[in-house]
Amino acid sequence: MNKPQKKDFIKPKHINDYPVGPQFEAGHLADINAGWRTVRPVVDHEACIFCLRCYIVCPDGTIFKDGDKIGIDYDYCKGCGVCAHECPKDAISMIKEEL
Ligand code: SF4
Ligand code: SF4
Repeated sequence: MNKPQKKDFIKPKHINDYPVGPQFEAGHLADINAGWRTVRPVVDHEACIFCLRCYIVCPDGTIFKDGDKIGIDYDYCKGCGVCAHECPKDAISMIKEEL
């Protein structure tokens, strides 16, 4: 399963402590990004043909294979709708988040 993982960013105390190269380990996010999502993708597993296009196009890597079904990590999904737009079977609906 290839899902993003949260890893807290420890802010350096002094400017000399900042690394010269990349600031953060690849494959990790400093925080979850679901707090400002207004809509969420919901998969209709009856309509889904498991082509994995949504898995490939999700810009945040939040779609994962859950056995023979598509899973979505809502901690990191930002609700952009790319997966729903690209699904050839219209198996993903964008549902309004409840407040
Ligand atoms: S793009 Fe649509 S049909 Fe393909 S795996 Fe994703 S939800 Fe299923
Ligand atoms: S709505 Fe955007 S971030 Fe969320 S699963 Fe779909 S493509 Fe990925």
